[in-house]
Amino acid sequence: MTATNAIVIGGGIHGCCTALHLALRGMRPIVLEKNTVGRHASGVNAGGVRQLMRHAAEVPLSMAAMDRWERLDDLLGPKLAKDCEFIGGIGQIGIAASEAEMDWCQTRVAEMRSLGHAFEEVIDAKELRRLVPGAADICRGGIISRRDGHANPFRTTQSFRLRAEQLGVRIMERTRVTGLEQGDGGWTVMTDSGVLRSDIVVNCGGAWAWQVAAMIGEHFPSTHFASTLMVTSRMPHFIDPVVIGIDRVLSFKQTEAGTVVIGGGILGDPDLNAETADTVADRMVVSAQTVYDFFPILRRATIVRSWAGLEALMPDVIPVIGPSQVARNLWHAFGFSGHGFQLGPIVGSVIADLVADGQSAIPIAAFSPARFSAATGTPR
Ligand SMILES: Cc1cc2nc3c(=O)[nH]c(=O)nc-3n(C[C@H](O)[C@H](O)[C@H](O)COP(=O)(O)OP(=O)(O)OC[C@H]3O[C@@H](n4cnc5c(N)ncnc54)[C@H](O)[C@@H]3O)c2cc1C
Repeated sequence: MTATNAIVIGGGIHGCCTALHLALRGMRPIVLEKNTVGRHASGVNAGGVRQLMRHAAEVPLSMAAMDRWERLDDLLGPKLAKDCEFIGGIGQIGIAASEAEMDWCQTRVAEMRSLGHAFEEVIDAKELRRLVPGAADICRGGIISRRDGHANPFRTTQSFRLRAEQLGVRIMERTRVTGLEQGDGGWTVMTDSGVLRSDIVVNCGGAWAWQVAAMIGEHFPSTHFASTLMVTSRMPHFIDPVVIGIDRVLSFKQTEAGTVVIGGGILGDPDLNAETADTVADRMVVSAQTVYDFFPILRRATIVRSWAGLEALMPDVIPVIGPSQVARNLWHAFGFSGHGFQLGPIVGSVIADLVADGQSAIPIAAFSPARFSAATGTPR
């Protein structure tokens, strides 16, 4: 039987980053991934690296993550850091298309300032057009976080995986965890390719993490959804910042190659059991129409591809990060509710701090698994 001191369930960005940080703490983790690393949300997302318009509870974590994004070299080394294709400091902008949305931007910035956060600013129509020359007349201004940017999600997840492997982490792909039992000697982890033993377990199971938690009798009201994206053929460079809608479903960015990645909340059809998610053409039209309204230049674009990915959703749209409430030596990090990629470089280090020191310097009380007590969580 294989024995180790740490098993991480899930080979998404959070599982790879957690294993990497546990290895930096001297452990020899094994990552168990039922498919392949980056196969699900972490590899297929929009790559948005965004502090903008985050839930207030997530802001300290998101700011700490941004510090890591800006120093990926330190964690990954220059080659793997470059492979992430992170571009920061270009800004993400929430575009306001009505007076009500401009009022919302003012209120949001005032609220953030009252909490001591000055990273968001309201911008008027003139500044918006300076930053985004192609914006249509309906765009009245908006809210910006100038530090934000984007990265390549698949290559970033692979970079974290490769760095973890360099540090001695073992990745077992096509290995599904089917059961967990705790005894005096630690955890027995049943998989479809054998049994392993480990001192600790970290549940980074993404949309399936609630199933992993249920294996130890801990129940979370985690649901799931399918976010969708489409990509255009190459276009002449016309925009640097990432733009998102406020009340309208819109999100897009232009890549270095010239293609435009369009998303923003249009949902596809998820199938958790089949582990697939499909786009629905009729719904994608709504997304395309919003983009055309805001950026007429995109009427010339051709959509070449669309896809969807499965993501966990918590009722309060913030993640679960912290120790199990029903078992010792098991930690959860899941439920990122559509915006966990940006948090990728930090959550693993928070988990490693919790494992090694029992606490994190970054405030994480809002993410406690205890907020969904085992008694009130809704078992599926
Ligand atoms: C289309 C789309 C666009 C998005 N855009 C953005 C964005 O622009 N910016 C942003 O910040 N976030 C974005 N997100 C969200 C982001 O991708 C996720 O929050 C993040 O990737 C979650 O990472 P994870 O490691 O928790 O989950 P995942 O990447 O889903 O990894 C979990 C892994 O656990 C494995 N697993 C589960 N159960 C088991 C088991 N029993 N045994 C073995 N393995 C198991 C799964 O196979 C999976 O690979 C987007 C998501 C989608 C789908």
